[in-house]
Amino acid sequence: MHHSYKNSKLYYTYKIMYLGVKNQILLAKSLDLGFIGIAREHIKIDKYLIRILKAATPESRYYIWHTQGDDKVRPEHAANDGQTFDWNNPPSTGDPGDDYGCRCTAEFINSPDKPAYSISEPSKGAVTIKKPDGSEETRTGGSRAWRNNNPGNLRSGTFANNHGAIGSAGGFAVFPDEATGDAASAALLRTPTYSGLSVDDAIARRSPSNENDTENLQNTIHNISGLSGDEIVGELDDNQMSKLTDAIKRTEGWIPGTTTINPAP
Ligand SMILES: [Zn+2]
Repeated sequence: MHHSYKNSKLYYTYKIMYLGVKNQILLAKSLDLGFIGIAREHIKIDKYLIRILKAATPESRYYIWHTQGDDKVRPEHAANDGQTFDWNNPPSTGDPGDDYGCRCTAEFINSPDKPAYSISEPSKGAVTIKKPDGSEETRTGGSRAWRNNNPGNLRSGTFANNHGAIGSAGGFAVFPDEATGDAASAALLRTPTYSGLSVDDAIARRSPSNENDTENLQNTIHNISGLSGDEIVGELDDNQMSKLTDAIKRTEGWIPGTTTINPAP
């Protein structure tokens, strides 16, 4: 008889501990007795147990991030709200409760439940996005940023995936639509890598002067956005942020091509 870890006593011991902790969180939440601080500690224990259990089971490997939805939520946590993450591959912000005083919570789920998109490049200069309903959108010509719905030219990888990317083409992330790509571009600027920098320093960080005419780029972005360059990125309001991401989009080369839709078979 085959004895896997999943059949072992140790596994069930951890499983029972894990369910106990999970139920205590739910209890603390449902009673709303001000146990938030305790629940937060439990989430950390929970994460530890999940990582052990992961070796034996895919259960509860993923979670949906929930914020408290008020104006005290950190902007980078607000950007995670409603998104699905993998406990084994935390977002750049860390998991809910990791930051000091963070009140965000994790809803445990069994599968990432991401819609099944697939990306292909049927020819040079064309990207085909196959959608979950079976229809296909082929984006031909224009710039790479436009073909990939990726106005910030984000590289493919964890950050892009955590912000809605559905695949990659040419080494860059592909987003399902322009709005998701815009939101990912803004989310990147809200990360600690950029949020403490001035607008000019953030531009220089994205486009270093050894590869770019950074000063010219900064001036162009000032002209398009109306920002002086001295503003701190993390202090921009939503309107200023969308002006900045729009200016980045235009300077990154957002050149539309043609779109053809193949309806679902
Ligand atoms: Zn938080």
